[in-house]
Amino acid sequence: MSRTVLVFVKQVPDTQNITGDAMTPEGTVNRSALPAIFNPEDLNALELALQLKDRFGLHVTVATMGPPKAAEILRDCLCRGADEGILLTDRAFAGADTLATSYALSCCANKVPDVALVLCGRQAIDGDTAQVGPQLAEKLHVPQICYTEEVLAMTASHVVARRRIQGGYEVLQSPLPSLLTVVDGNDPRPMAARRIMKYKRARTLSEVRAALGGKDADPAAVKAEAARLQKQGLLITEWSALDAGADLGRTGLAGSPTKVKQVMSVVLTAGDAKKIEPTADGVGQLIHELIADHTLG
Ligand SMILES: Cc1cc2nc3c(=O)[nH]c(=O)nc-3n(C[C@H](O)[C@H](O)[C@H](O)COP(=O)(O)OP(=O)(O)OC[C@H]3O[C@@H](n4cnc5c(N)ncnc54)[C@H](O)[C@@H]3O)c2cc1C
Repeated sequence: MSRTVLVFVKQVPDTQNITGDAMTPEGTVNRSALPAIFNPEDLNALELALQLKDRFGLHVTVATMGPPKAAEILRDCLCRGADEGILLTDRAFAGADTLATSYALSCCANKVPDVALVLCGRQAIDGDTAQVGPQLAEKLHVPQICYTEEVLAMTASHVVARRRIQGGYEVLQSPLPSLLTVVDGNDPRPMAARRIMKYKRARTLSEVRAALGGKDADPAAVKAEAARLQKQGLLITEWSALDAGADLGRTGLAGSPTKVKQVMSVVLTAGDAKKIEPTADGVGQLIHELIADHTLG
C-alpha cells in the first residue's frame, strides 16, 4: 500500500483582522499588510491526515506554496504531528490564480513518491474559490471526493469517505490514489509540547541563509548548517519552480488568465434603508418596486 498522505496547506490573511491596504494596485492580495493564519479547513485536512497516520501508520507530508515566510505554517504542521514539510517558493509563483496555483501544486505532488491520498481544504478564506482541489485532481488525473468529513475505511487499493451534502451525507468509495477536499467536520489537535521543542528549530535553506547574513552569507557555512539540520530531521525541503519541474510559462502571473480588475468594500449606510409600513398597501408597493428593479419576476 502507498504510504504517504500529501496535505496542501495555505497561509492566508486573517480576514477577521484586516489592517492597511488589503489589495495591491494589480488586484492581488497584499499579504505583507495582513496578519497570516492557518487556513481553517486546511487544519481539518491536516487533522484527517494525522488520524490516518494514527490508524494506518501512513507518512504525512505537508506542502505549501507561498513566500519564504510561509515556512511558519509548515513548522506549525510539524508541531501538530506531520512528518515532513515542503515549501514551494519562488518569485515565479507570485500572483498565481487558481489555474497557476493548481499547476504548481501538481508539479509538487508529482515529485513526492508513493502518494496514496492528496488532501486539500475545501476552500481558502482569501481567494474563496474552492477551485484548487478539484483542478489539482484533474491535473493529477486522479478521482476526487469533495466536502469530505471523515475517512471511514482505507485499504491498499481504495478509500471510503463520508462527504457532506445539503441536508445529509453520502458515502463514496474511490480507488487510490485519490484527492479529497476536506470540510470542518473534525476537531484539529493542538501542537504537542515535545514536538514544539523540537520543530521550532526547523528551518528552510532560505531561512538558514538569511540567519547567516543573507546574500553575504558564506556558502560553506550555509551548507554546513543545512547538513546539521538535515541530520536532525530539521531541514524543511524548499523547492523553486525549476526544482519542482514547473514550466515557467504556466506559473505565477505569467500562467494566470484571471485578472482581478477591482475589489470594492461595500458598506451599507442608514440612507440605504427604507421603512415599509406593515400594511397591504405598503407590501404591495414594495412588491411593485422589486418587480420594477428586476429583483422579483
Ligand atoms: C478578491 C480576489 C478574487 C479572486 N478571484 C479569483 C478568480 O475569480 N479566479 C481565480 O482563478 N483566482 C482568483 N483569485 C486568486 C486566488 O486567490 C488564487 O488563485 C489563490 O492562490 C488560490 O485560490 P483560492 O485561494 O481560491 O484557493 P481555494 O481553491 O479556495 O483553496 C482550496 C484548497 O487548495 C489548497 N491551496 C490553495 N492555495 C494553496 C497554496 N498556495 N499552497 C498550498 N495549498 C493551497 C488548500 O488546501 C486550500 O484549502 C482571487 C483573489 C482575490 C484576492
